[in-house]
Amino acid sequence: MNPNSQSTMHHNLPNGPIDYCQICASRELEQIINLGHQPPCDSLLTPEQLKQSENIYPLNLVRCGGCGLVQIDYVVPPEILFHPDYPYRSGITATLASNLQGTGEHLAAKYNLGPGSLAVDIGSNDGTLLKGFRNKGLNVLGVEATNISRIANQDGIETLQAFFSETIAEKIVGKYGQASVVTAANMFAHVPNLGQLLRGVTRLLVDGGTFVTESHYLLDLLETAQYDSIYQEHLKYYALKPLQRLFDDFGFTVVDVDRIPNYGGSIRVYATKGKGLPVSDGLTDLLREEERAGVYDAARYDAFRETVLQSKLDLQALLLKLRREGRPAPGIGCPGRSSTLLNYCNIDPDLMPYIAEQSSSLKLGLYLPGKHIPIVDEQRLFDEQPDYAVMLSWHYAEPIIAKLRERGLRSKIIMPLPRVHVIED
Ligand SMILES: [Zn+2]
Repeated sequence: MNPNSQSTMHHNLPNGPIDYCQICASRELEQIINLGHQPPCDSLLTPEQLKQSENIYPLNLVRCGGCGLVQIDYVVPPEILFHPDYPYRSGITATLASNLQGTGEHLAAKYNLGPGSLAVDIGSNDGTLLKGFRNKGLNVLGVEATNISRIANQDGIETLQAFFSETIAEKIVGKYGQASVVTAANMFAHVPNLGQLLRGVTRLLVDGGTFVTESHYLLDLLETAQYDSIYQEHLKYYALKPLQRLFDDFGFTVVDVDRIPNYGGSIRVYATKGKGLPVSDGLTDLLREEERAGVYDAARYDAFRETVLQSKLDLQALLLKLRREGRPAPGIGCPGRSSTLLNYCNIDPDLMPYIAEQSSSLKLGLYLPGKHIPIVDEQRLFDEQPDYAVMLSWHYAEPIIAKLRERGLRSKIIMPLPRVHVIED
């Protein structure tokens, strides 16, 4: 394969190191920050696995000098990242569930869709987003690679257990017809076979149909120093210009964009089949804002690196001090991103004796990869009332802290990002 060819073949990435841009194939990649070798963040370990060796992979963030895409330069095989027992379930985080369901309802209204139309969600997880479409009377179909598809099917959201591809798209069209809207919420930045995916979506959509994606937003990542949202599943960290370039390559126009709060700051991007279509004022405005914020300037990334380093040193210093005083701080919440944060900051069970998760979590009884911190029922927090605890789900801190306080937690809360600070009450 020649990544410099004019074709779109380079969008299908091989596993292992990549030395060219995932969108424009330029070899002009500049390092932003190296987070070291890290385990896949959602490969939580069982007690038996603690006795075995563990896979780690490079986690190095780079920026393309050609199209500006921020990306990592190593592809972990998707079957390792999204293993059948992948523990993530979108319906379990209340805020996220209502956002996702709202998205389905919002899109049905925006495009005036109802009974007779088909909505397909790629990476549909437990079907939460599709429920929003179903509430508006649409036919819905999910495509989900992991065993979580069973939960969706049990819930009455028909879901194929598969990685989405042109072949799957062909099958869907044969059986259900073309879709009016296709969504990919928070998996779009994950796929190594973007070429396959976009050709599949083209096949699946009716003419004039829209592909709606949600991804972490690079501008938010920079503004709140969210280095913990960098992990191997996230191959790309999108801003608008690289997305415009990507969609144009596949015959779409990015026509509109919304900034949304999901995952600490995301963008919902609307790409309609067809080239050179008119775009919204919102899109033009946000492009300007990106320019102003330095998203396409190298100097902005030097500042980012410095902020991240400072945040790491501050967190280490505080947790060391607390440990020396005999009051180590447990963690609250174990989102995928906590693995990047704790591995990069080198925080182990001596500094953080456990991580508390809600009783319904699929992660209880398992261990954080790399650092082997046990994940336990949050009841322990209430029983032990530690002096301090670290908010690892800091991007959802407000509702979580309110709930914990209501249930009687008195601990001071350490917020690790954007700058380390303590919430006293
Ligand atoms: Zn590029």
